[in-house]
Amino acid sequence: MQEPFGPMVALVGAGPGDPGLITRRGAELLARADLVLYDRLVSPEILELAQAARQMVCVDQLPGCHPDRIGTIGQAMVEAAEEGLRVVRLKGGDPILFGRCLEEVEPLIDRGIPYQIVPGVTAALGAAAYAGIPVTDRRLASAVALVTGHENPAKTEGSLDWEALARFPGTLVFYMGIARLENLANRLMAHGKSPDTPASIVAQATMARQRVLVATLGDLVAKAREADLKAPAVCMVGPVVRCRQTMDWFDRQPLAGRRILVCRPKDTDGGVLVTQLRDLGASVHNIPTLEIVPTRAGDIPGLVAGSRPDWDWLVFSSQPGVQAFFERLDTLGLDARALAGARVAAVGEQTGTALARHGIRADLWSQAGNAESLAAELVGQVDGQTVLLVRADRGRDVLARTLGPVCRVLEWVAYRQEDRKALHPAEGDWLAQAPLDAVVLTSGNIARALAKLLPAEHQQAIQTGATGVFSLSPVTSAVIRELGWPIAGESAEPSMRALVQVVRQKMQTRQGSA
Ligand code: SAH
Repeated sequence: MQEPFGPMVALVGAGPGDPGLITRRGAELLARADLVLYDRLVSPEILELAQAARQMVCVDQLPGCHPDRIGTIGQAMVEAAEEGLRVVRLKGGDPILFGRCLEEVEPLIDRGIPYQIVPGVTAALGAAAYAGIPVTDRRLASAVALVTGHENPAKTEGSLDWEALARFPGTLVFYMGIARLENLANRLMAHGKSPDTPASIVAQATMARQRVLVATLGDLVAKAREADLKAPAVCMVGPVVRCRQTMDWFDRQPLAGRRILVCRPKDTDGGVLVTQLRDLGASVHNIPTLEIVPTRAGDIPGLVAGSRPDWDWLVFSSQPGVQAFFERLDTLGLDARALAGARVAAVGEQTGTALARHGIRADLWSQAGNAESLAAELVGQVDGQTVLLVRADRGRDVLARTLGPVCRVLEWVAYRQEDRKALHPAEGDWLAQAPLDAVVLTSGNIARALAKLLPAEHQQAIQTGATGVFSLSPVTSAVIRELGWPIAGESAEPSMRALVQVVRQKMQTRQGSA
């Protein structure tokens, strides 16, 4: 859809790593962007917000070597904007901090192209918050300086006033390559900063693999060498570093540092599972392995416009079934009143919640249940009646088989489940970043589809037990075993809450850290 206001370019801060730290405005612009030009460090989950983008380009892949790439980026933005595209230039952290922001927008200014700048959480402040280091504190520091430790290589040494920095009355935060650390520590000490000053390095801040090293300026270099920290990193110097001893909330979370893959289809309750695991401190990514395709056509058996439905019971076994059913009613020009008089049964908590959204309270609801338990309850109540089952094409036949002998069973296939054929590039990138600690599976079909999508190294990690597989129910577990995958834990009952509970029990990390 073309917007009436013409082209727009936005420089958007993506934050330091945790995909939850992008601003609402940034997410909004990304969702509508045609072209996204992104920094290499931007998290793949943020890139997935760019649902409508026709093109996603990592600026590292643009022609030209690092120092002159700015011109190429500016050029690419100008060309796209002049073609009428909406462009998002997605930058790590905050765009106006060590981001060469002005150089990037100059070509836009020259051509009179409108642009916006959307701030982000800068690495220093993301790192400080997640490491539990307040950059200011009433008793310890009333000012903070953000300093670049890797300057423009063309500049001569000495463009930073080390003497002033050593005297600075507050916290120093250096954005730097690990290789510059020795130079930095030595210069501060040479200009009078005490070797006893507390200092810290926060590497890969705000991500699952965040590492925090606490030292003094005097032994920082030796400790960093030993710890073998990986870029990107910031270095903080000042007495506030000591506060981490009591405020290291990130590492105290039960699932801190855990990387967990969830595979719920889009638009189902993947959100519940993901948010509950994230609340426990895990880094979680939902990669759907099935696509839900509503059939959107065909008559609903027993439903004739203008008269009472022909069924006594209407049975929903999943949330997408509820959604597809009401969408179909809508296209038939009907609404919930078409159900008048029919009784309603549902399997699973999300199915019940979805019905409630349509103003329907299930008469029979196997909340934590499965098809077996609902069928067992229903079978005593439907003798000689007509039951409509709303189901997926590949759903299990438990309900039809159990109810068939005692009542008339009608079925409506509400949606198809299709295996996804390939991963989105951003999903592949997320998987490639590091090994997984856990995979959480909620159905056999999801598990089978994952076995076809998941790169070989991750499947090996599952087989050796390095990655734990968690299962929602015995039915799901049976399929997982067929795939030859060991099971690290099975939910005590088939509900998302119980599933999260078992993941927590088995995957809990140590409390606190060095
Ligand atoms: N505009 C960015 C900074 C770009 S310079 C911002 O506002 O954050 C790149 C430097 O930022 C890296 O060398 C590193 O020092 C720092 N950095 C970026 N992401 C980081 C992260 N997740 N953890 C620690 N440091 C990070």
